[in-house]
Amino acid sequence: MPAFASLVALRRLWSVLVAVGLLLPAAAPASGGIAVLENRAEHAFAQRVTFTLQAAADTDITAIYLFFGPEGGDTTTVPLPVTPAHTVTVEHVHDLRDAPLPPFAIVNYWWRIEDAAGETYTTPPEQFRYTDNRFRWEELSGGGFTVHWIAGHGDPVFGQTALDIARQSAEEINAELRAPLPPAVDIYIYDGQYNLDAAMVLTGQEWVGGQAHPELGVVLVAIPAEGNYAAKMRRDIPHEITHLLVYQAVTPAGYRYVPEWLDEGLATANEQLPAPDYDVALENARAAGRLIPLQDLCVPFPPDPGRAMLSYAESRSVVRFIRERYGGPGIRALLRAYADGASCASGVRQALHVSLGGLETAWRASLEPQSPWRAAVEQVGVWVGLWVLSVLVALPLATVGRRYGHGTG
Ligand SMILES: [Zn+2]
Repeated sequence: MPAFASLVALRRLWSVLVAVGLLLPAAAPASGGIAVLENRAEHAFAQRVTFTLQAAADTDITAIYLFFGPEGGDTTTVPLPVTPAHTVTVEHVHDLRDAPLPPFAIVNYWWRIEDAAGETYTTPPEQFRYTDNRFRWEELSGGGFTVHWIAGHGDPVFGQTALDIARQSAEEINAELRAPLPPAVDIYIYDGQYNLDAAMVLTGQEWVGGQAHPELGVVLVAIPAEGNYAAKMRRDIPHEITHLLVYQAVTPAGYRYVPEWLDEGLATANEQLPAPDYDVALENARAAGRLIPLQDLCVPFPPDPGRAMLSYAESRSVVRFIRERYGGPGIRALLRAYADGASCASGVRQALHVSLGGLETAWRASLEPQSPWRAAVEQVGVWVGLWVLSVLVALPLATVGRRYGHGTG
């Protein structure tokens, strides 16, 4: 974010509030009442939000307060300087470069107006979505999902392809997670990683592997329209929808307890595209004895790209192992444990009845290539077992037979 000292004064100027007395309009408020004539908020993404209020009263309006904040976040209170008058217009410019709002959040705002007669009026809350309006977005909705893409970006089926992938993958993912669906899911498709990253930098968001904002019901992805964009959609959209559904599954308090290996492991395992790069990273680390301990993947992954890549690859592999061994009930039991605030290790113990170390040992063993001998044993194992059983059954009979023989002979 730019922080030029010379700009600070300018920004403060923006925050100067205008209090103008006007003639009482025709739509005068009832005696003793306070009426709101204009109430709006307009934003320029990553720059400013401009809140405007015009109110009128029979007596002088003496004080106005603005309240605003993102849904689920802190509320900011701004007392506005007012020159007492019957009709007052105030404007507050909130500088988003100094105090960013979460991108794509729903922002609530309302006002409190006081007059000289001691009357107070609080407006009902209004809201707007803090979209990245540096771009013009097109949209397409269906089945509780809305896909937004930058106008003019992609061919006519671009948005429809994304919507189809979103709906179909959400259904598949939720067959396992069984999370309550949010009332609405909004998927914003940027035209490239650069513009998506820039949006995050502009709004002071840290780069995190995915760009889902599960608490907002918003998914952000970057999908250039060129080439086989549907393949990238099949990888990225299910990944981000998984985060959203994991969040839903452990809401309200549990998301911060969900270990990174489980959240990212599910997201990565749900990507609908083969991922040879993950497989290679995993196999190289295993062969070199450089696998990252599972315990270290309970927390956010390291920023180093190579280590991050291996972290995703391992998490994906661990989740696939849990799926194979414990099935959907195992995955859901894990999410329930973390929803209740379990630690990384105790969640595994509660849900899978194995220690985190035990899980790791079993998973690592599953990665070891099978020796030809062991594979052969496993293949003939059932026949060997039957043979052993037949011997065990036959043995007492033979003994009995011999004893008989001795007795009579
Ligand atoms: Zn992710």
